[in-house]
Amino acid sequence: MAKIYDVVIVGAGPAGIFASLELCDAGLDVLLVDKGREIEARVCPVQTRSGCRALCSPCNLVSGFGGAGAFSDGKLTLSTRVGGRLKELVGSEQASVLIDYVDTIYLRFGAPPKVYGIGRGIARLEREAASAGLTLTPVKLRHLGTELCHETLKSMQNYLSPRLDIRLGTTIKSIAVEDGVVKAVETDRGENIGCRYLILAPGREGAEWLCNEAEKLRLSLDSNPVDVGCRIEVPMTAMEKLTRTLYESKLEFYSRSFNDRVRTFCMCPGGEVIMESTGGSDPVITVNGIGYARPHTRNTNFAILVSTTFTEPFHEPIAYGKYLARLANILSGGILVQRLGDLMDGRRSTQARLQNNTVEPSLKAATPGDLSFALPYRYLKSIVEMLQAMDKLVPGVASPQTLLYGIEVKFYSSRLKLTPCLETEISNIFAAGDGAGVSRGLVQASASGIVAAREILRRSGKESSPAT
Ligand SMILES: Cc1cc2nc3c(=O)[nH]c(=O)nc-3n(C[C@H](O)[C@H](O)[C@H](O)COP(=O)(O)OP(=O)(O)OC[C@H]3O[C@@H](n4cnc5c(N)ncnc54)[C@H](O)[C@@H]3O)c2cc1C
Repeated sequence: MAKIYDVVIVGAGPAGIFASLELCDAGLDVLLVDKGREIEARVCPVQTRSGCRALCSPCNLVSGFGGAGAFSDGKLTLSTRVGGRLKELVGSEQASVLIDYVDTIYLRFGAPPKVYGIGRGIARLEREAASAGLTLTPVKLRHLGTELCHETLKSMQNYLSPRLDIRLGTTIKSIAVEDGVVKAVETDRGENIGCRYLILAPGREGAEWLCNEAEKLRLSLDSNPVDVGCRIEVPMTAMEKLTRTLYESKLEFYSRSFNDRVRTFCMCPGGEVIMESTGGSDPVITVNGIGYARPHTRNTNFAILVSTTFTEPFHEPIAYGKYLARLANILSGGILVQRLGDLMDGRRSTQARLQNNTVEPSLKAATPGDLSFALPYRYLKSIVEMLQAMDKLVPGVASPQTLLYGIEVKFYSSRLKLTPCLETEISNIFAAGDGAGVSRGLVQASASGIVAAREILRRSGKESSPAT
């Protein structure tokens, strides 16, 4: 075995980065490993407009220094109510303290001072949402935009590079355990790297790998509900009533037909709809959205996700989500786009109909088609019902011109059994971030990395060395 590190961190997304920031000056030997590239070398074909049909391996959009955060819209949701289950694990008070601490670090590395989701007008919006049958959860939010998010993460990379070992382009294949304690990890090149502590932070991209390793190591896993839906694109003006004050509006609804929980997610005013490839060694193409510091389009896009639980036994949420995404991929070569008017009239969208549409699709590589061939009736029905409810709050959202892209799936659907310090059932193996089912966004992913790092410092008799 080449070298024994005090700590190995798998995944250089926000969870891995914030664990690294906490550990890097404490006098421990730390290695941060990621299968993707350094942040400046991450070039996504989506950005160069050639689409996502090439299936880069690993996908530059979600892998490499910065993780899925690198091309994200950089909406920092500063609340324990959304973005993960940290408060369930560490308690509400501690989760709030951690979120404030994470915010100070993002500010130090370049996040802007402006905060949305506070101030006048919010109570009125909540009342109007309620009378449309929706619940609006106002959330304090800082918005970086894709450009600044990239720059902030680059500053973190520059800060960390001289302070710990970083190995990019390296995939961790397996975990070795001896007598109930972590011993080493093995890379895809067959190299064994010894460690006293291991933090697993592989994100949604690595969630399936983590599940497989967890099964091999006999760790308990619970299935989360599966979140499946569409990306919606409407004129920016239609949503301005909400986005001006809130930037991102978290709306929730229970579908009349199925009583399923339906919610808006990841709102990008002036942003673009994009494709991403996700799912490790057996990837699928799914849809997502990004926003910028300043509007790049005249549209706003957001996801509508439906959370369902299934008849028992059901143990394969990730396989199920990938199966649905693959149906859309088979039909379109990637992503399907359909006008709401065409969906309601029971016909496919065509290039000709899209050309005359008032909402111009920002994802040029999407194929006009019929989403009902890919999405089960239950999901489509719930999405349409949610759009109709939203139309009462923000008229125009359920216009025939509204675009639906499919499909969007969130692969954080299995959760590891963890202690309040995020240790797994194996001593000295910790798990953090989206891949372990702890978080669903940048802030709680970052905070969870800190929780694991602080426990390692405590057990090593070291002080944390905050990068603030
Ligand atoms: C387009 C887009 C926009 C988004 N916008 C927002 C937003 O505005 N606000 C928000 O809060 N959230 C947003 N998110 C979600 C946010 O990016 C994630 O919640 C967050 O990045 C999760 O952090 P993480 O550290 O858990 O995992 P990730 O950021 O996914 O990082 C995991 C890393 O682990 C690496 N990895 C996986 N498996 C292995 C392995 N076996 N060996 C080595 N390396 C491995 C991956 O390459 C990856 O770099 C967005 C996501 C996307 C894709």
